[in-house]
Amino acid sequence: MKTLRTKAEVRDALGPERRAARTIGLVPTMGFLHEGHLSLIRAARERCDVVVVSLFVNPAQFNDPDDLAAYPRSEREDAQLAGEAGADVLFAPAPSAVYPPGFATKVAVKGVLTESLEGAHRGAEHFHGVTTVVTKLLNMVAPDVGYFGRKDAQQVLVLRRLVTDLDLPVVIKALPIIRESDGLALSSRNVHLDAVHRRRALALPAALRAAHEAVQAGERAAAQIVRAALEVLKRPGVDPEYVALVNPDTLAPITVLDGDALLAIAARVGRIRLIDNTSLSPIAAPDTTTPHAAAATLT
Ligand code: AMP
Repeated sequence: MKTLRTKAEVRDALGPERRAARTIGLVPTMGFLHEGHLSLIRAARERCDVVVVSLFVNPAQFNDPDDLAAYPRSEREDAQLAGEAGADVLFAPAPSAVYPPGFATKVAVKGVLTESLEGAHRGAEHFHGVTTVVTKLLNMVAPDVGYFGRKDAQQVLVLRRLVTDLDLPVVIKALPIIRESDGLALSSRNVHLDAVHRRRALALPAALRAAHEAVQAGERAAAQIVRAALEVLKRPGVDPEYVALVNPDTLAPITVLDGDALLAIAARVGRIRLIDNTSLSPIAAPDTTTPHAAAATLT
């Protein structure tokens, strides 16, 4: 696997592949790779002739400078892991290669998709940072397929909107959330959780499970389903930024569960901001908040 730093290097490396009509898959990441990222790389390896992993901690999508400074980084280990998972190219540009002096353009998806949930709490600029950098990565790498995790379910919706609206010639693939054996969704930020907060963080998947159980028991009122999740969060003292039951395509709030829905949670555990989500449906929604159940839904 080679590590490339500039768009010129990427163009030189991928030009011959593209001319030979070989399919290119891109897995955008901010590094500190874990099994969630590796599942995307392996999926790309299965489907594509050439697999590119980008590693770029994008300053434009951080609303909090301390959060950006504290974001964990380990390029050497990332290169090793990405290569083992099947990547051909690690594209790890410096910030100045992505945002050269004079950079003045922003790509913004407007409306509920970027202004609700994460947008409401981190600011819509967060998603404008995401859509700007993803547009640039898609232009620089020009992949046939882009691989993203449902851990960031709202991000997937925003990126699908972006690709549709700007006629970008790429297919967006969204893959399931990968969890630790105790249910915690993998995240680069988990490394900052001490033992006490690591245990407390389990309230997030437990809250999602409680919502599933409420639905299985026949509950259809959104407020009651959310309440079931809130009760579980509050037990160990986790005070969420939001627990929201929304339409899985539009993110509009729902009041009655009468079709597929997305239950999304964001909460600070100690100083660490965590997000998690699950699909809910009145008809036999699979509970994917335990790794065992998640694996079953993949087969
Ligand atoms: P990040 O490095 O956090 O920006 O994530 C890069 C990609 O990996 C995004 O598409 C994330 O949704 C995805 N991802 C992060 N964590 C997980 C996880 N636990 N399961 C599946 N995908 C994930």
